[in-house]
Amino acid sequence: MFTGKCVLLDRDGVLNEEKGDYVYRDEDFIIPADVPEGLKALKAAGFALVVVTNQGGINKGLYTREAVLQLHEKIQQACDHCLDYLLFAPWHREFSLSLSSKPGSLMMERGLALTQSLPEQSWLIGDAERDMAGGKKAGVRTILIPTLKETESPLADFVCPDFKTAAEIILCHGNQ
Ligand SMILES: [Mg+2]
Repeated sequence: MFTGKCVLLDRDGVLNEEKGDYVYRDEDFIIPADVPEGLKALKAAGFALVVVTNQGGINKGLYTREAVLQLHEKIQQACDHCLDYLLFAPWHREFSLSLSSKPGSLMMERGLALTQSLPEQSWLIGDAERDMAGGKKAGVRTILIPTLKETESPLADFVCPDFKTAAEIILCHGNQ
């Protein structure tokens, strides 16, 4: 029986700066200063941390899985390896009707299962409507950090300006 709790994390626009296009070069992967601190605070509060990121650029042939994994090692190093899993969906909607790719929820449900987390005690932080949609299907509470893409969402339980604030919201509500 699952008893844990986790935070599902979109990547681009949440853990690293949104560039308005696919991020796969090291020089474009900019981690805001408040992200590592916020991740470690959530981890210390007992949340498992799972990145859930669409990487349809792989399916489009723009970059490789290895390029994704290199960036994921960079974020792990920045947060002292506090991320439990970094899941990505390599399919693109032009080629595949994947249930893993957001707004599908399968990648998120996998994250919940891997960390033995209860949806009702878990959260999702994202910057796009498709993140919120996946989170709602998975049954977790959702936080939107608006970037260039979305400034509001009817599927967001909370909207906040940055990762630090998102982490604070979770830490205030996390056991309710
Ligand atoms: Mg994003």
